[in-house]
Amino acid sequence: MKIAVVGAGLVGAVAALAMAKTGGQVIWVGPSKPESPDRFLAINPTAIAFLAELDVLSSLPKSARGPVKKMHIADFNQDTKLVFDAAKTQGYALCEIVPAAILLQTLERASRKQENIQCVPDEYVSHRIENERCMIQLKNTQAIEVDYVIVADGAMSRVREIENIPFKSHDYQRAAVTATLQLAMPHEQVAYQYFLDHGPLALLPLAEADKVSIVWSTTLTEANHLKNISSEGFVTRLANLLPQHFQDAISCSPRYTFPLRSLTAKTTVQNKVFLVGDAAHVVHPLAGLGLNLGLLDVIAVQQLFLSRQNKNRPFNPNALQRFARERQWEMGIYLKTIDAIERAFHEPKGAARKIGQLALAMGGVPFVNRLLINKATAVT
Ligand SMILES: Cc1cc2nc3c(=O)[nH]c(=O)nc-3n(C[C@H](O)[C@H](O)[C@H](O)COP(=O)(O)OP(=O)(O)OC[C@H]3O[C@@H](n4cnc5c(N)ncnc54)[C@H](O)[C@@H]3O)c2cc1C
Repeated sequence: MKIAVVGAGLVGAVAALAMAKTGGQVIWVGPSKPESPDRFLAINPTAIAFLAELDVLSSLPKSARGPVKKMHIADFNQDTKLVFDAAKTQGYALCEIVPAAILLQTLERASRKQENIQCVPDEYVSHRIENERCMIQLKNTQAIEVDYVIVADGAMSRVREIENIPFKSHDYQRAAVTATLQLAMPHEQVAYQYFLDHGPLALLPLAEADKVSIVWSTTLTEANHLKNISSEGFVTRLANLLPQHFQDAISCSPRYTFPLRSLTAKTTVQNKVFLVGDAAHVVHPLAGLGLNLGLLDVIAVQQLFLSRQNKNRPFNPNALQRFARERQWEMGIYLKTIDAIERAFHEPKGAARKIGQLALAMGGVPFVNRLLINKATAVT
């Protein structure tokens, strides 16, 4: 069985390794693009367990893994406050903060060692189905012929477009500002998330004891301002907003902005194509889940391939439909919860705000993470 994985981002890299473990021949298509050295991602226990299963975790340098032992979540006035402690839940860490660039390099190195992964650093252009086979046209190299395609070509997915899969999209009219902050004091592996008037501000402890990664979602105007002010101006702005602990911040890196929107594909399985990662769904970064959900997609697709009785016959269409329905249902829970929390806090006053506070009090963000932690137990 030949499987193409399209997209050489983080989800594509994990998908290539995961599909290689099913015993098939994998053709991994996509120009390799390095991740920015200033980009950090929270990966949760499910993702960590899966990376271990793929024999990647042991190659990820310890110096790149920042465990989060506690998480404080509060609204702006700190009327509603929650503290989550790894020691009181599943033990080691609530999640880990890792540099995206190092994670991607580690995955690429692991895939180069796999004999049944062939890397094709080219762009997907189009595909068509002929006699139960999928013919993929590439930009610069020869066309390839495979049995199935795992699509991880991101939010603007070209494969999704060619396959004509409809999707729903919502522009939050917000942007996330990211930066790395150097503190005067150690962060003690505690993460903070504050729901400010225009959106959440997260401070995530890195492996280095005195550095945190900031993800600050706010209006487009404010994001633009925060990107362009001086490092000193940015640190002062944070100091005015945050509790004492962060007021002695020393400096911060250049800032980057990411416009925020959500996207959900109507189905993630069609013909010979499986959508995974941002090609299937894009979420607000408030719960740090986009990549983690992408890895859940990969886990599900891998399990489907492993569960086949006859490895050489195509999937039964009914089985694929059932799989697609189950994926939609499971993802719907995560996507709707994240969206509801975002919308509740988007509205600064009145009933929606109260509902938001209630959602926060009930642990909306940790709720989503708990679901994923329960998943982790299933994976390990
Ligand atoms: C500010 C911010 C903070 C975030 N923080 C977190 C976090 O803490 N934790 C978390 O889990 N998630 C987080 N996310 C989400 C996470 O970054 C994404 O969900 C994840 O990186 C998506 O990976 P992907 O591989 O699906 O897509 P992408 O990273 O977009 O990769 C797609 C790949 O496909 C390639 N490609 C595109 N078109 C073609 C083509 N025609 N042919 C071949 N290749 C193609 C691209 O070059 C790219 O390499 C955050 C997102 C933002 C914006």
